[in-house]
Amino acid sequence: MPYHWPKDTDFARWELDVLDRDCPFCGRRMHICDHRYRHFHTLEGPVELVCKLNHCPDTACPGHAKTKSPELEITIALPKMAVGWDVLCWIGHRRCSRHWSITQIQGELWDQYAIPISADSIGEYIQRYQLMLAAHQEDPEALRLQYEAVTEIILSIDGLQPEKGHETLYVVRELTQKRVWFAAPLISATADEVRRLIAEAKTRAAALNKNVGLWVSDRQDAFVTGIAAEFPGVPHRYCENHFLRDVAKPVLEADSHAKVQMRKKVRGLRKIEQTVLKQQRVSVPEVRVDADTEPPMAATVGPMNSPTPEADSAAVVILDYCAAVRGIVNDDQGGPLHPPGMRMAEALQEVRESIQRNLDEKKGGSQRSNSPGSRVASTAASAKFEPNTRRSAAMSKTSRKSRRPLTPKEGAVRLARRGSSN
Ligand SMILES: [Zn+2]
Repeated sequence: MPYHWPKDTDFARWELDVLDRDCPFCGRRMHICDHRYRHFHTLEGPVELVCKLNHCPDTACPGHAKTKSPELEITIALPKMAVGWDVLCWIGHRRCSRHWSITQIQGELWDQYAIPISADSIGEYIQRYQLMLAAHQEDPEALRLQYEAVTEIILSIDGLQPEKGHETLYVVRELTQKRVWFAAPLISATADEVRRLIAEAKTRAAALNKNVGLWVSDRQDAFVTGIAAEFPGVPHRYCENHFLRDVAKPVLEADSHAKVQMRKKVRGLRKIEQTVLKQQRVSVPEVRVDADTEPPMAATVGPMNSPTPEADSAAVVILDYCAAVRGIVNDDQGGPLHPPGMRMAEALQEVRESIQRNLDEKKGGSQRSNSPGSRVASTAASAKFEPNTRRSAAMSKTSRKSRRPLTPKEGAVRLARRGSSN
């Protein structure tokens, strides 16, 4: 669809000549016979490009009926595009390297460069950019240069599903140079289709004149048979990662079950928090004002010096624990070597021990519970479980927007602020 330019667009005018003006048929010097105007966006503003078209003055020469366009036009903008190369690359880079959404790209182009482009067009530009990127990746000359000093290569193949429901993308990588060689989406990965990819890898290795020393993949039948057929005598090692994952499967299943049980047991955080916040509101309303008006760091220090330290610091500690525990039960990180459920059990155990230390401290020193000593003890206790819950807190929904993981204290303050604002 042609791009619609507003009538009052202020174009910068660029003129472009043909460089080689000798007629390709008879060698005469060609004349300018016409001008072609085209318009596109650059990052510096809209441009009107005037292309001077040449043809041979000799009416009998085949070069007379055929016009020649300036050679450099294609280096400024691709044919029929409403953007120059700079804008195209800007879009492609934001998409492929920074993973921006089309809406985000569209918004930023408008905000920063006043370039209005439809989402459809941006989608199309991204496709073209990807095509060029792929072509560049597969450039045989670039590949040859990279592999000049390599004597033996290691190939691997694996299927991955970029999005659920899409066909699986089979990727062939070379491991010594850590480079994707090529990829192909296969709707049904039959042995024949997979073998075609392996044969393709063989052709490319041969074109580079490199010896394949090893293949690495999982134990999918099509890989095993295809590699054996195309690369007889080349060792085929099963990928450690897949192997480990398969071995760990029953463990992970049990682990996931244990996690569900733990989550069932650790419940009612919200209720505890609400109760604490309610009490805070009733007993020390000025703290609420503090938390609202001061930055979180100051607010965490505030309660320590506030006039009613005992009730207040107890409330902060309880909220700390709630934030920490919420982080722990929402944390799904961990692989076969340190399953999520194990991590959860360890973290919860630390919290339990920490609470116990606080309780012991209170029993032993209740008469001096208002002294600095008890405060040190309670902050020390929360500091004890902090390193472990730091990552959990970072995963929890309450703090996902934070640049840096929240400490339990800060998390608690956030909750307090949220609670008091409504
Ligand atoms: Zn001619």
